[in-house]
Amino acid sequence: MNVEGGNYEPAAPAIPQECHGLLLRSGVVQVRYRYRIYPAPGQQRALARAFGCARVVYNDCLKLRDACHAVGEKISDTEVQRRVITLAKLTPERAWLAEVASVALVQACQDARRAYRNWFDSLSGQRKGRKVGHPAFRRKHHRQSIRLTRNGFALHGQRLYVAKVGDVKVEWSRDLPSVPSSVTVIREPDGRYYASFVVERQATPLPACDREVGVDLGLASLAVTSDGDVIPNPRFLRGKERRLARAQRALSRKQKGSANRGKARRRVAVLHRKVRETRLDHAHKTALRLVRDNQAVYVEDLCVSGLARTRLARSVADAGWSQLLRLIEEKAARYGRMSARIGRFEPTSQVCSACGANDGPKPLHVRAWACATCGTVHDRDVNAARNILAAGRADKSNACGGQVRPAPLLAPAGEAGTLRGAA
Ligand SMILES: [Zn+2]
Repeated sequence: MNVEGGNYEPAAPAIPQECHGLLLRSGVVQVRYRYRIYPAPGQQRALARAFGCARVVYNDCLKLRDACHAVGEKISDTEVQRRVITLAKLTPERAWLAEVASVALVQACQDARRAYRNWFDSLSGQRKGRKVGHPAFRRKHHRQSIRLTRNGFALHGQRLYVAKVGDVKVEWSRDLPSVPSSVTVIREPDGRYYASFVVERQATPLPACDREVGVDLGLASLAVTSDGDVIPNPRFLRGKERRLARAQRALSRKQKGSANRGKARRRVAVLHRKVRETRLDHAHKTALRLVRDNQAVYVEDLCVSGLARTRLARSVADAGWSQLLRLIEEKAARYGRMSARIGRFEPTSQVCSACGANDGPKPLHVRAWACATCGTVHDRDVNAARNILAAGRADKSNACGGQVRPAPLLAPAGEAGTLRGAA
């Protein structure tokens, strides 16, 4: 196994992180399988080194690109990699980069490139909708991870071999459906370690049905469908979130570097995990229900959902929404159903889904309104979901070369329907 190969760059990059469950060829889908792993103390130290190096390379990439951007210099991806890995290893300040598997450093470079590109495309207007912020620098006390392609890991019997770390014990909670093409080794802030494999799995198509649904993502509830179904967040999630907020306030009062601060941080991390697991479980069930009951599921792309929100609520909700979107796409691919993001700048909450008249913006507290043109009384969220369904259908018939139903709200087509990652 060649892990010393310097700047090895895989011919085909590993699965892009924003693309989950995409259809590869007919009948095969790419998914992630996650297992808890138990590295020995020595392996934990080796992993900590690898995490640290990947984090430094990632941050160096961002800084270098920022510096070039500031002086208007164009820099190629290979040049970035050469400077932050190959040349950096030769300097005394970064010599320790040579101690870890270079494949992890290369992947960190690629992650930084993708994050930077998203931000840049958003700045230049190539990426539609809500602005993507400057990529955040990775931090020591957050979730740590390294991504490895085939030349950085292997399965040795029941153990996972990680380059320069060794054979790590894995809790195989279920069988891998195929040989993994890459793995992400993760250390969560609560101290647990996981391995997340990218694998291919046979699709198991469900019998076709003729129902389609539009989904509006919400703040008070998780989602509302065009059929009028309200999918609430689980009741116990709120309680957990409140406890988490309290623990976070307690942490912020502790003195930096103190033992109590360490303890408080761990408590926050454990609560974080519980919130995350609760939300994930609920999202799995919601996604399965939507995909099972409908032939096509249309959801507004998060980048374009232009609802006014407070910053904190937004970030909390964002995490839940992107997870739900990912699971819908993953399950749709698996069960032979269709899912699409409606990637257009459309005022889904302002337009009447019955007649197409734009009734103007409405403040968030307006939950129901009557259309001034046709008089239909709408629930705000259900109306938005119906508009999403209509936009999704129009995109689909466009893509199939069919007739677009002449609805006024579809006129300003900004961008073709984006089934991101599956197109
Ligand atoms: Zn109307």
